[in-house]
Amino acid sequence: MNIHLRKRIAPRIEEGHPWIFANEIEKVEGAPEAGAIVDVFYGGGKWCGRGYYNGASQIPVRLLTRKKDEAINEAFFVQRIKQCWAYRQQLGYVENCRLVFGEADGLPQCIIDKFNDYFVIQTLALGIDRWKGAMVAALNEVFNPKGIFERNDVPVRELEGLPQQKGCLSAPFDTNIIINENGLKFHVDLENGQKTGYFLDQQDNRRAIQNIVRGADVLGAFTYTGTFEIHAGHYGAKSVLGLDISENAVQQANKNAALNGLEKTVKFETANAFDVLKQWGKEESRKYDVVMLDPPAFTKSRANIEKAITGYKEINLRGMKLVKRGGFLVTSSCTNLVNAELFLKIIGMAAKDARRQLRQVTFNAQSADHPIVWGMENTHYLKFLIVQVL
Ligand code: SAH
Repeated sequence: MNIHLRKRIAPRIEEGHPWIFANEIEKVEGAPEAGAIVDVFYGGGKWCGRGYYNGASQIPVRLLTRKKDEAINEAFFVQRIKQCWAYRQQLGYVENCRLVFGEADGLPQCIIDKFNDYFVIQTLALGIDRWKGAMVAALNEVFNPKGIFERNDVPVRELEGLPQQKGCLSAPFDTNIIINENGLKFHVDLENGQKTGYFLDQQDNRRAIQNIVRGADVLGAFTYTGTFEIHAGHYGAKSVLGLDISENAVQQANKNAALNGLEKTVKFETANAFDVLKQWGKEESRKYDVVMLDPPAFTKSRANIEKAITGYKEINLRGMKLVKRGGFLVTSSCTNLVNAELFLKIIGMAAKDARRQLRQVTFNAQSADHPIVWGMENTHYLKFLIVQVL
């Protein structure tokens, strides 16, 4: 079954991007069913690549290979998973990593997180969901895992006509596990935690706070299970307070502090960070050496981008006001549509309103197990900034 592209299309596809939009297709030959593997040809007739098809999607084809002799079968997925693991190992990841980062790894809409011997998988489009069994077989072959869990309880699947679901893809196992990161231990709830259970995308950035938190009074907001805050305690902070709106996350965070013997210095409370930071900003005596912010994505749609900008500006303004002169703000954004340039601009606006000057210490993206592919904007989603607030 063949897909023929229009003669005039954006250079994106030729440059390696795997998505083919409906308005780029001239002709669909052979009535492929949803989820079928199709061959794609350029307008001039040259073979372009092979991928999976869903006529009902706004992106009817996502390419899996550009090699003409590469068939899409079980062996293909074993090969891809091996390549993914080789890359992570080369970068120094041993235990935990995002093993498959979708488009960036040539497996569009597939996410696999590796937590030592346990794996969590998401298949977010129909065409890749069909190969879930092949992916599980590949994981079994390459890793011999203790457990594989499906976290397909993600609304975006409904756009592809797929149900939201979660459950074991291996023999049943205890989905409350403990992982090691940077010499610390964390409880991870694979079944009920947020997203895949744990945010591996900040694992390299958590080390970046090492020098600025020593001896410091630290405030963290949007802490989830307390990873940054527990790192701060471990790196020698004098006191650490973490806030999250989710009671469940706060419970887990306190458990994680205790797991690392840091419960005396690192404490968590349930609170709405927007309200509390605003209130504390009015109290002259309440100041911190380091304030850390890691809010959830504020929007997924371009229509709400203004709302996201306002949200980031507000929370960063409030955070900055709580930093002692010469202290540090550690701030992140995982909103895809707020790119790095815009994020810095927003922080700059917040500083102006707070009447504080900033000195940049670190500006990073997500950790290297979530590779950024140039030309694929969506693969660069996390912004991680440390500034000194003068
Ligand atoms: N820093 C964490 C990830 C944070 S995810 C880590 O590295 O693991 C974002 C968190 O913000 C979630 O736990 C969510 O419960 C919390 N959150 C969302 N809105 C909030 C609000 N208004 N106040 C406080 N926490 C909030």
